[in-house]
Amino acid sequence: GRGVAVFTSGGDSQGMNSAVRSVVRMGIYLGCRVYFINEGYQGMVDGGDNIVEATWNSVSNIIQKGGTIIGSARCKEFREREGRKKAALNLVERGITNLVCIGGDGSLTGANEFRKNWSDFIRELVEEGKITQGVADRYPNIQIVGLVGSIDNDFCGTDMTIGTDSALQRIIECIDAVVATAQSHQRAFVIEVMGRHCGYLALVAALAAEADFCFIPEWPVPENWEEILCQKLQQMRQEGQRLNIMIVAEGAIDRNGQAISAEQVKDVVKKRLNYDTRVTVLGHVQRGGAPSAFDRLLGCRMGAEAVLALMEMTEESEPCVISIDGNQMVRVPLMQCVERTKAVQKAMDDKDWETAVKYRGRS
Ligand code: ADP
Repeated sequence: GRGVAVFTSGGDSQGMNSAVRSVVRMGIYLGCRVYFINEGYQGMVDGGDNIVEATWNSVSNIIQKGGTIIGSARCKEFREREGRKKAALNLVERGITNLVCIGGDGSLTGANEFRKNWSDFIRELVEEGKITQGVADRYPNIQIVGLVGSIDNDFCGTDMTIGTDSALQRIIECIDAVVATAQSHQRAFVIEVMGRHCGYLALVAALAAEADFCFIPEWPVPENWEEILCQKLQQMRQEGQRLNIMIVAEGAIDRNGQAISAEQVKDVVKKRLNYDTRVTVLGHVQRGGAPSAFDRLLGCRMGAEAVLALMEMTEESEPCVISIDGNQMVRVPLMQCVERTKAVQKAMDDKDWETAVKYRGRS
């Protein structure tokens, strides 16, 4: 059977375990040998016990767990050619020439670099006497499929990333909890949620939890935002609301590109309206807890499709990402998605909101 390895890299997200489980079981079902690589690229570079063969049962009882049971890490060495070459040796020694990378745009870029180097690495490893020509001939290339695990939904080319729905669920539970106390004391709450380049979590949470105001990176507030905000809050109070909820994405900014923090929003409300105002920063709570049904299914579907894609790839096949598009699993060119995702980030850094929103869109 073919050697397939699965690893998780970059920031963790709920539903990654479901994807890992699905890759392992679909792989075994199709007659592959499937390996876990623990601790992302670090485990690939270090080899040894970090690369272990998976069994059908080794992925039982993980679908309901948040995070990733095989560990994730950031790895400096993998950014260097020498580090990637060490990783190549660890894989080829085990006959692994198919990878499922579950991570963000950084991890997927790394996977693409790795594939570009592969044939050179194999030749050099033979020259250095680390592998035989026979081994080199058996594994002339490597196939790569990416799955996007990210709570931010910040990747172009898929409607949803694995983990976003669960993070939203957690955020909404937290806001509901805060609303209960705010209601009792007639308070205003400013809630900071994750999202450096992408306001999806903030925007959707604001809609789902009935917030009064929302600050996101893609839609910088105008110069007179303080006035607009306070008018809105006052209006809601006049209409009988006993509380106010404002949501601020980590990457929120004004039209000049100046960061807007939750503390700053609180100070404005306190100073101008004299409302009892508190800040709640949700932080890593958003990554925690059980994955939602949606993320479990998304992980399952994407993982299975990833293995099917690997089995159909040929030497010439470019790496692909499995994405969800209108509730269908589709394969899209990996580097095209990464480049678009990076273009959005650059456009936002350049304060070119129009381009950012255009690239963020579906087509
Ligand atoms: P994410 O995958 O969530 O975007 P990072 O950008 O931190 O997270 O990337 C995770 C890891 O992927 C890095 O620690 C590094 O090992 C690897 N990586 C990222 N970019 C590259 C690159 N250009 N070349 C090689 N490896 C990379």
